[in-house]
Amino acid sequence: MTAAGTGLRDVDVAGDPAYRITIGPGLLDDGARLTSALRGRHALIVSDSNVAPLYADRLEAMLRSARPNLSIARFELPAGEHEKTLSRFGDCLDALARLGATRDACVFALGGGVVGDLAGFAASCWMRGIDIVQVPTTLLAMVDSSVGGKTAVDLPAGKNLVGAFHPPRAVVADTAMLRTLPDRELRAGLAEVVKYGAIFDAGFLEWLEANRVALLERDDAALAEAIARSCRYKADVVARDPFERGERALLNFGHTFGHAIEAEQGYAGSADGLNHGEAVAVGMVLAARLSARLGLAPRADAERLQHLLTAFGLPVEVPAGLSPDALLARMRLDKKAAADGLRFILWDGAGQARVVAGVDEAQVLAVLATPSD
Ligand code: NAD
Ligand code: MG
Repeated sequence: MTAAGTGLRDVDVAGDPAYRITIGPGLLDDGARLTSALRGRHALIVSDSNVAPLYADRLEAMLRSARPNLSIARFELPAGEHEKTLSRFGDCLDALARLGATRDACVFALGGGVVGDLAGFAASCWMRGIDIVQVPTTLLAMVDSSVGGKTAVDLPAGKNLVGAFHPPRAVVADTAMLRTLPDRELRAGLAEVVKYGAIFDAGFLEWLEANRVALLERDDAALAEAIARSCRYKADVVARDPFERGERALLNFGHTFGHAIEAEQGYAGSADGLNHGEAVAVGMVLAARLSARLGLAPRADAERLQHLLTAFGLPVEVPAGLSPDALLARMRLDKKAAADGLRFILWDGAGQARVVAGVDEAQVLAVLATPSD
């Protein structure tokens, strides 16, 4: 996984197409790597209004110096989840049309998960599918959204309702770009990193405990290690279950509770309510407490998870003012709820998760109503 001496990590992802994730500081200046998957003469850089002013000129300069004959255009959307719409998706396709993009064109998604999802969906549709290189700039995008090939936009009726599976040709994750990421966004990504340890590897949780300060200080080596390990866990599960018919569902640990919290807060996002990572942090603690309550896992493991998330500055309790009954009602409506009742990803202890269907609603309510004791 480590390229000796370079400080870079590689994670190879199996599938069709197979692709490589490269992680480490300075990759935005590595024109040869950025263009290694390029086949044609057209490139569209998709970014948002926060990220483009910081990094788009550098990316474009690198692409130009590596491929002087490339025709490059840019498409920039205003930052924020509310821009992940069909209308912006259409604008992105128009940008490809203006560029005269042919079937061998390549889209570069320079941004967080919003940019990655929208650009990926546009790439999946333009001429029935062109290449995309993901250049994730948030920790969440580096460890989650850029891996696995899911792309989507939102509808007024709900998040990610329209999309496609469209794996990238390459993922280039420059950890130096994380230095400009707002603290809250960094923590949101750390919640998903903790999730991988919680469901797949208790040893990784120990590593996170030991490297907590370095991660919060954005040390490149610690970040690269955390990202590489996270990508490996996700890539392995996606390779075994690409279309989420089985164990890929484990990646939703903490998400049933988390989505209910986000929905009850009206997806307030970072303005008034919890952002996704924060809601997942609370959700994971609730799932762990529910597992303990059902006698599946030791209570001490739930407490340990709670301590780790707290150390990362993440919330671990249901926000004040949200009613347990309302949250339960949201969970009944969750698109992943099964015909046989409430379904959760629970664990048999740190590092071992499984899907449990038909969970008793009274137990869920009890967990929602009881703060940590
Ligand atoms: P985001 O893309 O909105 O980025 C968060 C904020 O950080 C934005 O304001 C952005 O402009 C800013 N930003 C990004 N990089 C920056 C940098 N380096 N410096 C300064 N500011 C920067 O949000 P996100 O958390 O990256 O992604 C969330 C999205 O990802 C959601 O739409 C979610 O549905 C999607 N997602 C997709 C998958 C998948 O498998 N496809 C998985 C998880 C999440
Ligand atoms: Mg998530």
